[in-house]
Amino acid sequence: MQQHPSCIPRILHGRSASSSASSSSSSSEFAVDHLVIGGGVVGLAVAARLAESHPNASTLLLERHPQFGMETSSRNSEVIHAGIYYPNDSLKTKLCVQGNHLLYRYCKSKNVPFSRIGKWIVAVSADEADYLSTLQQKFDKIKHPEQEQLRFLSASERELEPNVKSTEVLLSSSTGIIDSHALMGALESDFLSTGGMVAYRSNVVGIEYSRSSASYRIQLEGSDEAIEARCVVNAAGLSSDRIAGLLLDPLPPDYTLHYCKGRYFCLRGNQPLVSRLIYPVPEKNLVGLGVHCTLDLAGKLKFGPDTKYVTDAANLSVDDITEDELDQACRAIQRYLRGIRREDLCMDYAGMRPKLSGPSGSFRDFVVAEESGRGFPGFVNLIGIESPGLTSSLAIADRVEALLHHPATL
Ligand SMILES: Cc1cc2nc3c(=O)[nH]c(=O)nc-3n(C[C@H](O)[C@H](O)[C@H](O)COP(=O)(O)OP(=O)(O)OC[C@H]3O[C@@H](n4cnc5c(N)ncnc54)[C@H](O)[C@@H]3O)c2cc1C
Repeated sequence: MQQHPSCIPRILHGRSASSSASSSSSSSEFAVDHLVIGGGVVGLAVAARLAESHPNASTLLLERHPQFGMETSSRNSEVIHAGIYYPNDSLKTKLCVQGNHLLYRYCKSKNVPFSRIGKWIVAVSADEADYLSTLQQKFDKIKHPEQEQLRFLSASERELEPNVKSTEVLLSSSTGIIDSHALMGALESDFLSTGGMVAYRSNVVGIEYSRSSASYRIQLEGSDEAIEARCVVNAAGLSSDRIAGLLLDPLPPDYTLHYCKGRYFCLRGNQPLVSRLIYPVPEKNLVGLGVHCTLDLAGKLKFGPDTKYVTDAANLSVDDITEDELDQACRAIQRYLRGIRREDLCMDYAGMRPKLSGPSGSFRDFVVAEESGRGFPGFVNLIGIESPGLTSSLAIADRVEALLHHPATL
């Protein structure tokens, strides 16, 4: 893949640049109908959806790294969530529930590896068991494409996982795991095969709106030329507030991101302690879902992520863990799992949550907003797309396409 920062068309893949330019422009070298900023799972899903639904329009995806998925989309738990924990009328619930259904269908049709192994949410006290009942009642009220229900396990069913300590277990059978890299590969391939264009090593550093031409001018680092776009989708993950701030001045305070690091632990010797996803009852303020136990498709166990607010989004080191933090994580796991010794835990990797709520903040929903109301028609901000963003990616893509092309249906 070559980089030609001063000559935008030559860094494009897929459809050739000249045939893809949609409208002529006097001020820009290159013009497209849709421009997506960010090649994580969400940007790829949005780009693929726009290209598929609008074959006569041109769609360009810009990503600053040399390939897709080099940030949060490849540093997560790879769990296909069921949409259990958030308020029922929130986008997090709605898009996760729809996304779960769409993702399983997509994985089957595109041969993306996944496994619907199910998840146990484990109560270890009467209070926690009460919380699980509340969760079950809340979940029952959600309209589900497949009528998915949570159910409590019998005592004999709970013996299937002898290392799990529990007073009650709530089973989510629609929770599973996925190969997120393969998913992104499939989305990129779909996008390119429907005429989409990708420009890697393309760092967006400026955005201007021209009311006269009703289009956006996108400036890339190291390039004198701008790209003109009729519609822009900001799917820049950890930098999505900064990208929004290139246009919105001042940036709305509720668009400002906080960074919350999540570190993962592996088990020395990879002992096969469980064969399902095991989650504790989540933390009270939903900063994270608790230090849970997941498996990847190769059967490797991992624990985490923990939660630690930081100021630097690029701080993905796992060497900064203190003895106290390791003790705390170990105790959190030992509450629901037998056979865990502190000396068997080792550091694995870390991911960074792009959170709209701060350390003491309350629940914040995904921002999926078309900014006509602020004077910027055709500009969509996706901000605070933390978990369950991987699960929700295909549903977010549907919503963005609707916001841009048939908003009355929403
Ligand atoms: C620890 C952790 C665990 C998680 N576990 C799960 C889970 O199990 N299940 C689940 O559903 N979700 C999970 N998530 C959430 C999920 O990973 C994210 O919601 C999802 O990956 C977000 O994708 P994205 O495309 O929005 O962001 P990203 O993957 O961060 O992609 C954004 C892209 O934008 C690019 N970009 C930024 N600025 C610019 C610029 N100026 N110019 C060009 N490109 C730019 C970046 O380089 C990046 O590639 C987890 C998240 C974390 C942190």
